[in-house]
Amino acid sequence: MSVVTEVAFGTSESKPERQSEQALREDLAAAFRIAVRLGWHESVGNHFSAAVSEDGTRFLMNPKWWHFSEIRASDLLLLDANDNQVMEKDDAPDASAWCIHGTVHRTNPKARVLFHVHPPHATALACLADPSMKPVDLNTARFFGKVAVDLGFGGMADEAEEGRRIAETLGDKPVLMMGNHGVSIAAETVPEAFEHLYFFERAAEILLKAYASGQPLAVMSDNLAAKTAAEWEPYKGMGYAHFDYWKRQLDRSEPDYKD
Ligand SMILES: [Zn+2]
Repeated sequence: MSVVTEVAFGTSESKPERQSEQALREDLAAAFRIAVRLGWHESVGNHFSAAVSEDGTRFLMNPKWWHFSEIRASDLLLLDANDNQVMEKDDAPDASAWCIHGTVHRTNPKARVLFHVHPPHATALACLADPSMKPVDLNTARFFGKVAVDLGFGGMADEAEEGRRIAETLGDKPVLMMGNHGVSIAAETVPEAFEHLYFFERAAEILLKAYASGQPLAVMSDNLAAKTAAEWEPYKGMGYAHFDYWKRQLDRSEPDYKD
């Protein structure tokens, strides 16, 4: 596979092969399988989506109540965020997923890819009165200035109002920490969303362990945290290498994700 670190959202020239619908289907299906291996899945819930149209409103998403480990590229629903009849169809998506993903893809064309999950560490952090990601090491500082926090939890997120508030609060940030709920990740590509989620879950684990020690945290100054976050930028290619590593693992042991 060619190097895709130069992936640029919105440029039609040199549009990487990875952005074709089939390539997106394969990447998204792979992301579900990898999420299982990393323990981010929960029963048959939670959703990943990826926009296929230039304006972001037509997008792929997992069907209602399928375990992540069984999802294949061809199983993904192709949905139109502006279609008011979606929930009346036989293959209607999960209501809360439509609420969150439909609203974000309808209103935020930059969020090409959206992952929403309840992984154990990020969700435990979301349960604290202050769920902010304090910069205490490299991984936590990676997210300095990049996390929007929504403290307006209103239940199962199946109301239009809940979806609107979530989409507005996310804004142009890559991470939405959802108090009392979980986390959503927005990115330009599936590998970038995967890497953000990978490091966010790791960072939450580290921060929770540091809290659990009962000792005062050595929180970095804003300047140092901002500098450290900026120093992560040249490492963007690492996410693609990491994702490709996992895809090679899947190619060996569960190649049906591509079907
Ligand atoms: Zn949720």
